[in-house]
Amino acid sequence: MLEQLRDELRRLWQEPRDPRLPQLGFSLLFLLDMGLRVVGGVDLRTGPLVGLMLTPAVWLLTLVVPWRRLPDWCPMVLIAVDLGLIGLSRLDPVGGAALLVVVPALWLGLVYGVRGALVTGVCTVALVVVPGLLYIGATGINLSRSVLATVLAVVVSLAIADVVQRVRGGQETIELQRRVGEAVLDTVDVGLVLLDGQGRYVTMNRRHHDFIRLAFPTGHGGVAGQLGEVYHEDGETLVQREEMPTFRASQGEEFDDQLIWVGADPLTRRALSVSSRVVRDDRGTFAGAALAYKDVTDFMRALEVKEDFVASVSHELRTPLTSIHGFTSLVLDREDLPDEVVHQLEVVQRNVHRLDRLVADLLQTAQGERGVVHLERRRCDLAALVRQSVEAARPAIENAGLDLSSCLPDQLMHLVDPQRFSQVVDNLLSNAVKYTPSGGRVEVDLLLADDRVELVVRDTGIGIGARDRDHVFSRFFRTRTAAQRSIQGIGLGLSITKAIVDSHGGGIEVESEEGRGSTFRVRLPLDAPAVRGTDQVDHQPSISV
Ligand code: ADP
Repeated sequence: MLEQLRDELRRLWQEPRDPRLPQLGFSLLFLLDMGLRVVGGVDLRTGPLVGLMLTPAVWLLTLVVPWRRLPDWCPMVLIAVDLGLIGLSRLDPVGGAALLVVVPALWLGLVYGVRGALVTGVCTVALVVVPGLLYIGATGINLSRSVLATVLAVVVSLAIADVVQRVRGGQETIELQRRVGEAVLDTVDVGLVLLDGQGRYVTMNRRHHDFIRLAFPTGHGGVAGQLGEVYHEDGETLVQREEMPTFRASQGEEFDDQLIWVGADPLTRRALSVSSRVVRDDRGTFAGAALAYKDVTDFMRALEVKEDFVASVSHELRTPLTSIHGFTSLVLDREDLPDEVVHQLEVVQRNVHRLDRLVADLLQTAQGERGVVHLERRRCDLAALVRQSVEAARPAIENAGLDLSSCLPDQLMHLVDPQRFSQVVDNLLSNAVKYTPSGGRVEVDLLLADDRVELVVRDTGIGIGARDRDHVFSRFFRTRTAAQRSIQGIGLGLSITKAIVDSHGGGIEVESEEGRGSTFRVRLPLDAPAVRGTDQVDHQPSISV
């Protein structure tokens, strides 16, 4: 019962056009005024007495009138009646409750704006001021009360009308901004989601609705971390709850480019690259997160096609290369060849060897799972491996007119895949030679630091600009300077080098300045590294110098 009353009051409060609640307020104030007069010993005349009796009757009448079904202007009649009641109260030599005009004035301003203020003024003069003046006469006090009551009623009415107009204007602006925001979000081709502090979906744009339909064909509950047809980069492993981008974001994690596939059907599924940013309130507390889902399906499919193509082409190239290599070796074994022919065949063999390395690189890049190299590690002398690579590169370095210096320990034992480690040194050395103009210098250092082995290959060559430095380890990336100078290369050596170093649990970095040279630094940890891929270990990992 109490609750019903509260609900009804709340509804009346939220519906300013319904006059029942303001009428109740007016009636109570009117009765209070009359009551206080009687208590104060005033002998009520006919006018106020009639007003006193009519007031509760009018309020009861407001309860039965179906206001919602009546035209908008109807409540104004009630207000005229109220002002008439005030007019009746003033049919007394001592005057009446002229100040009560403020109540209907407030309501008229609130509901009808400036129009309401006009009605207030006219009705106050006609129903309150004129009867009072006629009955009491134009005495000083009566005149002053009449004028003050009219001015007060109109001013109050206008003031509330102005406030209402401003508030409505503000609400309209906010609503308009919200719609503009929604329209902008819907025009972008990126799925956008906003989560609140509890991980609930606050809003999402149209594009993201498409992704949600693909990922959650049976429906989505609107909370972060739900499981659906969402797969890892390999397109096969389902993403677990704690790996879901929305779950990570709801835990306050910020990340870029998490790659997922959504949808089970290989024909319609999409690849999405997801980024997340945290939203914080004024006090820096986590208040939610914004996620962007970029559709990279075309790029991923193009990559697959390219990798398949590269793999099959390089595989096909290997067979004829092996044959050329075999037959030139056979011919070279003959004793009766003139020196000139031997020299020419050696050139053929060197180039076949180069081509073979290139094809091997391509094959490895295309076949290998991204960044993973299969290792066969054993304990070996890194100093000896580096020394071999340096000696093998010496003729090329001298031909290029470069100075070579190296600083190596006598022996440095460590657990590595010797072939792969030599590949790292060869790649870095051959780059240093390729990208350093004649007259420059190349240095190779191998050293043992506190917790790691460090290989440093330094040159005084063309260097790498700041913009390119982050990309040189990406597949098929070449700096513009290298391409402009027509220096041969396909942009695979460093990505393979990095994959080998990563697989040994180490890291590679580059410091460089355009026109001044580059320093590549490879770090291999001394403790047993976290290894991915096949790892055949002959000995326990141990270090000796
Ligand atoms: P490639 O040398 O076959 O182009 P890499 O992957 O070895 O491929 O190198 C990628 C790019 O990095 C090169 O094309 C070149 O622009 C730049 N780069 C690598 N090493 C050096 C270096 N020592 N000096 C200047 N630029 C280099």
